[in-house]
Amino acid sequence: MTALPTSLPKVLAIDDSELIHRLLRVRLQYEQIELHGAVEAREGLRMAKTLVPDVILLDIEMDGMDGFEVLQSLKADLDLQDIPVIFISATASMEDRVRALDLGAVDFVAKPFEVVELKARVRSALRVQHLVKMLAQKAQVDGLTGLWNRTYFDRRLGQEFAEERRHPRGLSLVMCDVDGFKRLNDECGHPFGDLVLERLSKILQSGRTSDIACRYGGEEFGIILPNTAGDEAIEVAERYRAAFEQETWPGAPGRVITASFGIADLSSLAGAQGPEDLVVAADAALYRAKVNGRNRIECAPSHRPAH
Ligand SMILES: [Mg+2]
Repeated sequence: MTALPTSLPKVLAIDDSELIHRLLRVRLQYEQIELHGAVEAREGLRMAKTLVPDVILLDIEMDGMDGFEVLQSLKADLDLQDIPVIFISATASMEDRVRALDLGAVDFVAKPFEVVELKARVRSALRVQHLVKMLAQKAQVDGLTGLWNRTYFDRRLGQEFAEERRHPRGLSLVMCDVDGFKRLNDECGHPFGDLVLERLSKILQSGRTSDIACRYGGEEFGIILPNTAGDEAIEVAERYRAAFEQETWPGAPGRVITASFGIADLSSLAGAQGPEDLVVAADAALYRAKVNGRNRIECAPSHRPAH
């Protein structure tokens, strides 16, 4: 689970006036922020893309692309649309204010501004941004196990799939399912079932830092392994399988609980069109692991040409 960043919040000022940048630099130098500046709209958008700042201060009147257009570009970008934008403008007509807020700006400060007021508004926007980030993260985490949830799994697998298509470095998916979970719940009660899921989650989380363990649903888990081909994925899954098998259970001495694993390696899946094909293939392999006796690992059939 990645924690919220503890580094200084980043503020990006986009304004075509050097004077404003100098003023901000001098007056905000002792604030607990990291200030960045762009004197041109397109450069500002580029910087927003690489920095992903916590707050953007945006001038309206700029040559070429104006502040409204910059705001529209920000709002059209999935990675940037949640960054609070504070408009800074010399004209400050009622129409501009309304238009800015309608387009999604969180605040509006008129030039010339009192730096004390601007600081207060930046602080307020940072507070809101912190809450938004916390909520966004909460919405992607499974409440019981603390692993990433299904929503995150779908999005992340889509990203990794697209990335792998652009720069192939290996991408495998491990699907994992607790054996006989329904019977466990029936015999030992649901709190015990929850404990089983939590223990398995801990094991899945204790793997390599690059592996992305998610609760797929119920007692099924999906672990995305970037930069990993099939053989290595088998080793990873085997470590999980062996560790889980060795767990001891309170109130159930001697009881051995196991899990089955299905692996799909994208490079050996002929004709995979999208991330869902990887899920289908890993799921089919998992099904075979169940049929072939459980507590084992199966791989999606390789379609590599035989040598
Ligand atoms: Mg200007």
